[in-house]
Amino acid sequence: MIKGYAGRLLEVDLSTKKFSFEPLDEETARLYIGGKGYGTRLLYDRTEAGVDPLGPANPLIFSTGPLNGSVAPQSNRFAVVTKSPLTGGIGNATCGGSFALGMKKAGIDVLVVSGRSERPVRIEVDGDGNHVEFLDAADLWGKGTYETQELLGKKKNHAVIGPAGENEVLFAGIVSNERIAGRTGVGAVMGSKKLKAVSVWGSRKLDMEDEDKFKAYTKEVRAIFKDHPVLGESMKRFGTAGIVNTTNGRNILPTRNFQKGHFDDAMKISGEWMEENDLKGVKTSCIHCPVTCGRDVEVEGKGRVKGPEYETLALMGSNLEIGDLKKVSEWNYHADDLGMDTISLGGTLGFAMELGERGMLDTKLHFGDPAGVTELIQDIAHRRGLGADLADGSRRMSEKLGGREFAPHVKGLELSAYDPRGSFAQGLEYATTNRGGCHVQGASMYLESVGPLTINPRNLKLKAELPIVQQNLACTINSMVLCIFTTYGIVPKQIHEMDPNSWKYRALAGALENSGPLFRWVQSIKGSPLLWFEKWLTMITGTKFSSGHLQEIGGRIFNLERMFNLREGLTAADDNLPDRILHEPIFSDTTSGHPLDQLLPSYYKKRGWSADGVPTKRTLDKLKVAV
Ligand code: SF4
Repeated sequence: MIKGYAGRLLEVDLSTKKFSFEPLDEETARLYIGGKGYGTRLLYDRTEAGVDPLGPANPLIFSTGPLNGSVAPQSNRFAVVTKSPLTGGIGNATCGGSFALGMKKAGIDVLVVSGRSERPVRIEVDGDGNHVEFLDAADLWGKGTYETQELLGKKKNHAVIGPAGENEVLFAGIVSNERIAGRTGVGAVMGSKKLKAVSVWGSRKLDMEDEDKFKAYTKEVRAIFKDHPVLGESMKRFGTAGIVNTTNGRNILPTRNFQKGHFDDAMKISGEWMEENDLKGVKTSCIHCPVTCGRDVEVEGKGRVKGPEYETLALMGSNLEIGDLKKVSEWNYHADDLGMDTISLGGTLGFAMELGERGMLDTKLHFGDPAGVTELIQDIAHRRGLGADLADGSRRMSEKLGGREFAPHVKGLELSAYDPRGSFAQGLEYATTNRGGCHVQGASMYLESVGPLTINPRNLKLKAELPIVQQNLACTINSMVLCIFTTYGIVPKQIHEMDPNSWKYRALAGALENSGPLFRWVQSIKGSPLLWFEKWLTMITGTKFSSGHLQEIGGRIFNLERMFNLREGLTAADDNLPDRILHEPIFSDTTSGHPLDQLLPSYYKKRGWSADGVPTKRTLDKLKVAV
């Protein structure tokens, strides 16, 4: 087996309570790396078109990659792949916590769970990773994710669901420690299988091609992290909450269900506020990560708990016009404990508030008013009353109650917290990303609206090309499996340090906007993550990787996801943005929104797809995508 892999795949069938260990397929590992890539390949091959996402034939695939189990910063995450009950297309999410490490230590790269148990069940893979126990989980059913993990014990590594997953809330997630695989409803699929928890542990060591070189180089990367203006300074100081004031200043902070991009009280939900006030966060980190972007905050009655990230602060703060960090922290705690994605939750709550204000929904919810939100979050997780409608997400609500033009989703997945009207490449990325409106399947906004702004966010130059590079890169990152914040290091320190008024900076920015190849070159200079991804992979696996290679692998994964979606009935019509985003301006110097129609044809062409968004045979053959 290639180095860096345990070499084993564990099959578990919950209907028959049988399991087997199979060898990992080397060719698939070479073509798709691991994590999301390997999982997508398995999902495509093992399902028939039209498989019911909440039925026993939809597999739930936990997958790691060759970097998991190493000491590389940002490297201990696992991917979950399945058909999404929220979008009807490809579903996937990645998660920190300790589960990936547990899988690798137990000697398992991939865990495929199929079938459905009659009664609540949990599984334990023993410490040697050779035996699986099917255990009754009736006593855990109904319990929150924190209590469940507490009861299962700290010595093992768990992936669990809360009541939201049990009740098949379509945006339920899977939790490991305090982290969540939040998006696309992977927790609902786990709940549909009556699987409450998976526990793994072990003592196997990662077998690398050149461990000494890997360790020495990782030291160098840590030094780059330490010096980097984002990874080593702002993220370290403010966490992702530090983004709030930046996006607000650039008018792209979702406010009032995306009616506006600016929130007057943004400061009160910002990282700066968190640092200076009584909610002052204690820094926390994923395993081996020096960034420490996590924050513990005080929540009444709960003590110090995981604090809200940028996405939560925006979607459950400004998007609801609630400038109250204590409230958002409390809701974040409940959402994690119940096991729900806060992006979809906040997007759906904002949509419900607007429906209510327009008289289209009987609710007491109001923008700017936290009353009733805590209770409604509980009702959503338990599918009670109005909560049952919200549990199906904003797209289904709009189909039932109206308001399609302002339902904040793409392909059924609620938009994350960067308004595309001020970040054109990000908007195209939302529209075309296979799992729906999401920023962690590519992070174009960082290069145009959040980082040092080397690319004008509101012109059309490079806007069809940038999302392709970013989406492909994200596919490889989610397959290694690394944290997406690695891409925040994509702009090297040297560029951050340039004076934006200097001729050098302006010349580089102008050249970048006009040149895709130059853009790729900048990513390859010292201090850029592409360089360290390639080196890590090469030192671990023994196979030579280059940035072109990573783009090719990412493109392969992206195209396979696309083929999965097409097979499930999605079409080019699903590569869209909400009418509000397309037509309602948020900047005083514009009369419209996002220019998607001008960008999409060029994007399809550059992808090697037909005019109606279907990958050509030539493209699939070139990328070795077998369908
Ligand atoms: S950057 Fe933050 S989320 Fe990513 S691995 Fe580090 S601590 Fe975890």
